[in-house]
Amino acid sequence: MADAFALADELGPAKVIHVCEPSLGLKAVLVVDNVARGPSIGGLRMAPDVSVQECARLARAMTLKNAAAGLPHGGGKSVLYGDPRLPRDKKEPLIRAFAHALRNEQDYIFGPDMGTDESCMAWVKDEIGRSVGLPAALGGIPLDEIGATGWGLAHCAEVAVAYCDLRLEGARVAIQGFGAVGRHAARFLAARGAVLVAASDSRGTIADGRGLDVAELIRLKQAGRALCDHAAGEKLERDAVIDAECDIWIPAARPDVIREANVRHLRTKLVLQGANIPFTPGAEKMLAQRGVLVVPDFIANAGGVICAAMEYRGATQPAAFAAIEEKVRANTAAVLDEVKARGVLPREAALVLATKRVTQAMGYRRFSIL
Ligand code: NAD
Repeated sequence: MADAFALADELGPAKVIHVCEPSLGLKAVLVVDNVARGPSIGGLRMAPDVSVQECARLARAMTLKNAAAGLPHGGGKSVLYGDPRLPRDKKEPLIRAFAHALRNEQDYIFGPDMGTDESCMAWVKDEIGRSVGLPAALGGIPLDEIGATGWGLAHCAEVAVAYCDLRLEGARVAIQGFGAVGRHAARFLAARGAVLVAASDSRGTIADGRGLDVAELIRLKQAGRALCDHAAGEKLERDAVIDAECDIWIPAARPDVIREANVRHLRTKLVLQGANIPFTPGAEKMLAQRGVLVVPDFIANAGGVICAAMEYRGATQPAAFAAIEEKVRANTAAVLDEVKARGVLPREAALVLATKRVTQAMGYRRFSIL
């Protein structure tokens, strides 16, 4: 518990709950960071090496992301120690038991994260009636299948190009990672006239300055193949996508891919962060000094959580897409206006915007964060 107290500041965490059931080998933690805006929403991460600290950092990130998106939700996160690839007959009892232990914890709504998926959320829903990211058969909106985050990124791009003298029509785009976020961002941007000049997956980069066939690349990935299996384009090593000359660069894979040591390789005017914490703070500073505009993760990639919050209210897919469009566009403009007016880093402007929305809500509470 000392760890969690050491992490506390004026925003949270409000609660840290450790759950243990030795007969099942269940060891798990819930961190509810702040519920001033409403019950917290955040994913359940399952991995052997999770920790209370990681859970608390992720819960704070959710407080900020949900507040920035104007959702009536606070931030929380849960972690389950274990191998996410366990067979169903071993994984399901663990997830059900964890959910059952939190059955009265109304301040937390489970969502999927690394190591958990829509089936896990269906078990949680069955157990306690409180989860998002459900299968369509249970009224869920399949956010990765429809590309909720990619849809938000395309709208973020439409707004951001005006702040760096670009036009989306004909803009050259490079995307690192071609999964749920990357491939849909490519699809929605191509529909707006942008040209995909490079893309990567864990096996390599494919590049073509004249433009790649996005639909064909998506077909390849859906068939379980690598991007470099595409007949056209130059095949390069995995990280070559970082060197691709482009107008818009989108990280949509792993954290910390751009660091002080490799940031000089980026040759772009605009970055839209599809992945979470893809750049180190030092790298973001260096890009700002070079005049490269970076729209931070919790502004640019909020489409997924907005979709989940809409699903929780029983909204349809078109209503969820309309909400993503409105919120991501408004936040991108608010952050970039601040950057323009005050010369601050985009991440600083985004943090101020999100924190203000949390503290305003705290002002209406009897106990500010509980
Ligand atoms: P995913 O597993 O569907 O896809 C990840 C893609 O990245 C795959 O194409 C994989 O081959 C590729 N990849 C992995 N390591 C790579 C590397 N080193 N270089 C290049 N490509 C690599 O995951 P996703 O749902 O698309 O999520 C991507 C990132 O976006 C994650 O950081 C995730 O936390 C974040 N994110 C996702 C959502 C969402 O709605 N799914 C929302 C917000 C943020």
